[in-house]
Amino acid sequence: MAEGVKIGLEVHIYPRTVSKMYCSCSSDFLNASPNSRICPVCSGQPGSKPMPPNRRCIEAGLMIAAALGMSAAGAPVRTLRKHYFYPDLPSNYQRTAEPMATGGSLHGFALGEIHWEEDPGQYDMAKGRVDLNRSGVPLLELVTEPSMHRPQDAMDALDDLLLLLQYLEIDRRELPFKVDTNVSVAGGERVEVKNINSVNGVVRALEFEISRQSSLLEGGGRVEMETRHFDEIGGRTVSMRYKETSEGYRYMADPDMLPVDLKSVSVSCPENPFAILARMKDGGVREEDARVIISDRRLLSVYDSAAAVTGARFASVFVARDIVGELNFRKLPSCFIDGTLIGQLLPLASAVHGGRLSNSNASKLLRSAFDGRDIAPELAKMEGVFAGRDAISAVADEVIASEKEAVARYRKGSSGSLNFLVGLCMKKLGGKAKAGEIIAVLRSRLDGAGDQEMK
Ligand SMILES: [Zn+2]
Repeated sequence: MAEGVKIGLEVHIYPRTVSKMYCSCSSDFLNASPNSRICPVCSGQPGSKPMPPNRRCIEAGLMIAAALGMSAAGAPVRTLRKHYFYPDLPSNYQRTAEPMATGGSLHGFALGEIHWEEDPGQYDMAKGRVDLNRSGVPLLELVTEPSMHRPQDAMDALDDLLLLLQYLEIDRRELPFKVDTNVSVAGGERVEVKNINSVNGVVRALEFEISRQSSLLEGGGRVEMETRHFDEIGGRTVSMRYKETSEGYRYMADPDMLPVDLKSVSVSCPENPFAILARMKDGGVREEDARVIISDRRLLSVYDSAAAVTGARFASVFVARDIVGELNFRKLPSCFIDGTLIGQLLPLASAVHGGRLSNSNASKLLRSAFDGRDIAPELAKMEGVFAGRDAISAVADEVIASEKEAVARYRKGSSGSLNFLVGLCMKKLGGKAKAGEIIAVLRSRLDGAGDQEMK
C-alpha cells in the first residue's frame, strides 16, 4: 500500500421524511412519473417562497450527531445558497446549511461536521430530459476529516454508519446513501471521487485511485486537483472536471430563510448502538451476529427477551441465524414477530438451551410457530411436563419482588419490561411453562389492585 495516504468521506444520507426540505411535496421520488411531485418551490419558479427547513431532517441530523459524539452548533444555523449552473437545478443555486454539529468520531476516525441540504433534480444527458421529482429532497451530509489511511478504514466507518442509521430507524432503506470520497497520496493534491452508491464501490474506487496516483508520482508525474467519477462496471475512476474552489460557488446566506435555533429542537436518543455492540461482544456474542441484531430494533427486543432466558451467546445465535433465517426464507419483515410469536419462541429457545430438545425437533417447531400453530402441546410432549399455575404464581411473585425497576417501567407503559419479566420467570421455571400463562399471571399481579388470585 502507498505511503502517506489520506482519505476523507462525504456521506449524503437520505433521512426518512414524508415531505421535501422546503415544500410539502412528497420526498418519495422513486416510482413516480417524471415531474409529478413538484411545486413552484422545488421547481425553482420566480417568486415562490420556501417553507422553513424540514423538522424531521433536522431531528435526524441531531440524533446522528449525538450518537457520534458531535457538538451541536450553539448559534442559530443559517441556510446558504450554493450557486452553480446545471440543468437539474432550475434556481441556479442549491440550498445547503451551515454545520449543525462538529467534532466527534466514526469508528475512531475524526469527523468534521454534519449539515442539511437539498438534493438537486435528475438530468438525463442522453435524452436531454430533466426530472425534478428529486429536487428539494432532504439530505444530511456527514463529512469526515481526511483521517483514514486505507480503503478498509472507509469500509469500517461506513459499516458503522449504516448500523447507526438502521438502528435509529432514520434512513430510507430503499435508497443507498451516496458517498463522495477524497484521497491524496504522499502529500500530493487532493482528488475527489463523486457519487458512489455502495460501500463496496467506495473501496474499489479508493483502491483504483491510490494505485493511479502512486504510479503517476513514481513515474515523476503530478497529481492534479480534480473531481473524478467512479465507473462502477469498469472499476475505475475517470476525470470529470478540475476542481472548483469554494469561492466559485459564491456562497451567501439565503434571504428567504430564517436561521434555525437548534436549542428549539428536542430529540430523544435511544441507547447508543455502539455501546450495545460492545456489551454484546463482552458477553461472548460474535460481532457479525450482534450487527444483524442491532440493525433491527424488533430483533434486538426479541434478543433481549431470549438473553434473559438463555444467556447472550445462545440468544444471539438463535435470533441472528435461526429466526432471521426463517424470516429470510419466508421473505418476511421482522415486524412479523409479534408478542404471540415471541411467547412461542422463548420456551423453544429455553428447551434447546437446556438440552431438552434436539436441534432437528427445534427446527421443526420453529417452522410450526412461524406457520402460526400453537407449538406448546408438541413441545411439552417432546421435553416433558409443564409447570402448573401454582409454580408459575410463586415464581412470578419472586421475580416481581426482586425486579422493582422493571415493574416500575412496566407500570409506566413499557411493554418491553413485560417481556423481560416473562423471560426471567421462564428461566426460573427451566423453560417448562407456557409464556401465555406467565403473561396472564404477571398481568393479574401487576395490573390488579391488590393480590388477586387467578381463577
Ligand atoms: Zn415542491
